Amino acid sequence: MPARHEEPIVAIATASGRGAVGIVRLSGRDVQALVGPLCGRTLAARHATVVPFLDHAGGVIDRGLAILFPAPHSYTGETVLELQAHGGVVVLQLLLARCLEAAAEVEGRTGRARLPYLRLAEPGEFTERAFLNDKLDLAQAEAVADLIEASTEAAVRSASRSLSGAFSTEVDGLRERLVELRMLVEATLDFPDEEIDFLERADARVRIEAIGAALDAVLARARQGVLLREGMTVVLAGQPNVGKSSLLNALAGAELAIVTPVPGTTRDRITETVQIDGVPVHVIDTAGLRDTVDEVERIGVARSWSAIEAADAVLLVRDATLLGDPAQEAADAAILARLPQRAVDEGRVVEVRNKSDLVRGDAGRALIERVAPLVLSARTGEGLETLRRRLLALAGWQADAEGVFMARTRHVEALKRTLQHVEAAVGLAARGDAALELLAEELRLAHDALGEITGAFTPDDLLGVIFSRFCIGK
Ligand code: GDP
Repeated sequence: MPARHEEPIVAIATASGRGAVGIVRLSGRDVQALVGPLCGRTLAARHATVVPFLDHAGGVIDRGLAILFPAPHSYTGETVLELQAHGGVVVLQLLLARCLEAAAEVEGRTGRARLPYLRLAEPGEFTERAFLNDKLDLAQAEAVADLIEASTEAAVRSASRSLSGAFSTEVDGLRERLVELRMLVEATLDFPDEEIDFLERADARVRIEAIGAALDAVLARARQGVLLREGMTVVLAGQPNVGKSSLLNALAGAELAIVTPVPGTTRDRITETVQIDGVPVHVIDTAGLRDTVDEVERIGVARSWSAIEAADAVLLVRDATLLGDPAQEAADAAILARLPQRAVDEGRVVEVRNKSDLVRGDAGRALIERVAPLVLSARTGEGLETLRRRLLALAGWQADAEGVFMARTRHVEALKRTLQHVEAAVGLAARGDAALELLAEELRLAHDALGEITGAFTPDDLLGVIFSRFCIGK
């Protein structure tokens, strides 16, 4: 029995639905043997050839292009056969079924289990093979999924940068520097007589500190990448009818939430993703946060509070025309008082006065501008740009998305752990020979943690988790 990773696999590689073209992709040892039964002829390597796709009796299922990529010059590093048919759900299913049937026929005919039954690919299995065959490292393989899922242009560009290896190159560079240091320390351990001289001459401590500084810089960029990938969450809070839904619409530039002059009609929370400078912003429009006896509205209110706890920013919307109205001020103060203290302390609550366009007279205008931190109008768009900047700053976005590579929380965590070990190593290096063994160990742990990013030291179970989140056919 061949190992799981050696079994030929097949999947429909294009999205389900109707399209001009749909692709069935096969990968694995011996898929070349299926070319004859499927296409009725041989194929030149890496040439697109127009062929009929044949059924079991030689009838034509469809006509399209077939391309054979003999190993190792293919996406997966194995022999790959790509069948480009018309993009219909049924025609592609028929073609897929025919591939499985043809494999069974070939196996039956040869009488040997040389070609194991072709099987359906699991999610991400093509890319997993590319990783296993050293076509991509792990960070690049993840970038494939991130590129496909990217929801903004900036996210596409950064995923593409990671896919082409920009992130991996930085990580590998750091790993090489760690390896050199480890060799130095291990050598010193092996030749104890020379130890002080050895490390001092090599300026070990300065070198470890320099690695720490470089790690810091990569970590900062990776954090930006995570932000591009995962986005930030913003909660819209405030009394009914202050214009929360209108503000969401204005931020998104489309009609997404129900806008209505009747108080309390936005009953449930609605999450909509808008983008600001390419950063996905998940906006949660809360139900009016007031105490109510209405059961449906009460559930909405409860959900809003849990969303507020977890958000990157809470936008407290108040009505500029009702400034100084005692009942309104009291209600807003009550909302503010109920916001999680941490969000307030950390400056995550952004207070805005909406409907500035309705404020009449210079005196009124001067007054709200004096007392309100951010005056805006969902109707005219006044102040919206300032608000967008504020939100991005809260998420930690540094205006220049150029050079950001796509990264995941997993990568940031690994970088943080690496940094911890490097920092411990700096401390130990200062203690000299007494701590040499500990220093060696910290450097080893740093090296391992860094290796998790590109897959040099990734446990198998983690690999399973990473690739299972891909779509089938990738
Ligand atoms: P929500 O209950 O807080 O979500 O408030 P809505 O977004 O439903 O708005 C309540 C009413 O205020 C609607 O009639 C909106 O058209 C109106 N409104 C919202 N924002 C503005 C604004 O900036 N200027 C003006 N003039 N009206 C607004």
